[in-house]
Amino acid sequence: MVTTPRAVWRFADWLLQPDTSGSGPIFESECTTCGDASDASDGKEGPEVWCLRHAGATGHTGFRAVVTSFFRARLLERDGAG
Ligand SMILES: [Zn+2]
Repeated sequence: MVTTPRAVWRFADWLLQPDTSGSGPIFESECTTCGDASDASDGKEGPEVWCLRHAGATGHTGFRAVVTSFFRARLLERDGAG
């Protein structure tokens, strides 16, 4: 999965970008009634199916989607080296 950054902020000579060297975003769902949670997944489908199964089993209908994304700061090469 490739994500396009919506904004890139620069501080001094550091640049923060999505980290594509490892896992993509991690998706989880949590029940807002009882706090039970799905397993972590690299896609949305598993956590969404968990919500439907949890709703069917408990009658709880409110859920929170949790997405964990990874970033990496990189020290930029200085301009004018040549
Ligand atoms: Zn619940």
